Amino acid sequence: SIVLGIESSCDETAAALVTDGRVILAQRIASQDEAHRPYGGVVPEIAARAHAERIAPLIEATLADAGMTLDQVDAIAATAGPGLIGGVMVGLVTAKALAMATDKPLIAVNHLEGHALSPRLADASLEYPYLLLLVSGGHCQILLVEGVGRFRRIGTTIDDALGEAFDKSAKVLGLGYPGGPALERLALQGDARKVPLPRPLKGSEEPHFSFAGLKSAVLRAKQSGEYADADIAASFQQAAIDCLIDRTRRALAKAGPVNALVVAGGVAANKAIRGALETLAEAHSLPFIAPPLALCTDNAAMIAWAGVERFERGQSDPLDVAARPRWPLDPEAETVRGAGV
Ligand code: ATP
Ligand code: MG
Ligand code: FE
Repeated sequence: SIVLGIESSCDETAAALVTDGRVILAQRIASQDEAHRPYGGVVPEIAARAHAERIAPLIEATLADAGMTLDQVDAIAATAGPGLIGGVMVGLVTAKALAMATDKPLIAVNHLEGHALSPRLADASLEYPYLLLLVSGGHCQILLVEGVGRFRRIGTTIDDALGEAFDKSAKVLGLGYPGGPALERLALQGDARKVPLPRPLKGSEEPHFSFAGLKSAVLRAKQSGEYADADIAASFQQAAIDCLIDRTRRALAKAGPVNALVVAGGVAANKAIRGALETLAEAHSLPFIAPPLALCTDNAAMIAWAGVERFERGQSDPLDVAARPRWPLDPEAETVRGAGV
């Protein structure tokens, strides 16, 4: 089967065509970084307008890239949340219109499920269940992925997401928006031992995260004027890695048997983080699986793939399915205050 995927939950407008054989026939991403840069972050109203302007020609171009027409597509999948509601509505309403016009099934995809299943698109050998570290701009969770739509939350952040901590620390260092990749580059030139920074929740029993204190410590280090920016960047990244590794080790002990240690989400594009997790997986004799960098940050191939996984299991959604600005992967998440959903 072939699924058209549409993504518009944040600031990338994206479309992709993916097969059940894990072939990405075509994929396009229109980033809005330039539009939001003057504001130092995503402005929801600007994002929604940009999605609305771009989405139809982007889908047409993606089909043209693959030399296909909509008739050849088996289902239409779109992100239905979580995310900025204006953008989500644009993508979901577009998908509904296409589904209605072509009489193809509509699949409403949870953006986080897109991230969570993207490693299976990248690697055919990855079987459920796997332990997933989902680290993105809005989320920081450790999940036991037992199947499509079957997630058990092992840990979550009690305040900021890791991508948010990267972005805010980058802003403090004057690195602009989006900050994660720029901070990673600057960290390469710094000494991670130079700036003493906290490791919030390290060693605690439950594998949860906290990054608000780390972010504030970065601000104080910068304001003190005592440290080079590159050393602050390197020290921040190392503190974040120490927390991730400690918390993930704890989660591995709690989760029971798994087939692999997996990382996904925008922050999974960070090479230092990937390297540290790979070492942890080796120590536990587990395969380590991370999608290629382009599948870590927001894209439509992962939405199309989540659509494939659902379509292959006979699942689809009614045309009146609602957009969900908040949509945790597991029901328990709603009960944890500030659970990053
Ligand atoms: P969510 O998926 O939680 O809704 P989002 O879709 O906005 O959030 P993603 O696109 O998945 O987020 O990830 C973007 C985040 O990843 C940003 O915070 C960005 O700074 C971070 N990021 C991207 N590349 C890197 C990198 N190389 N190092 C660290 N962080 C990175
Ligand atoms: Mg973006
Ligand atoms: Fe995302």
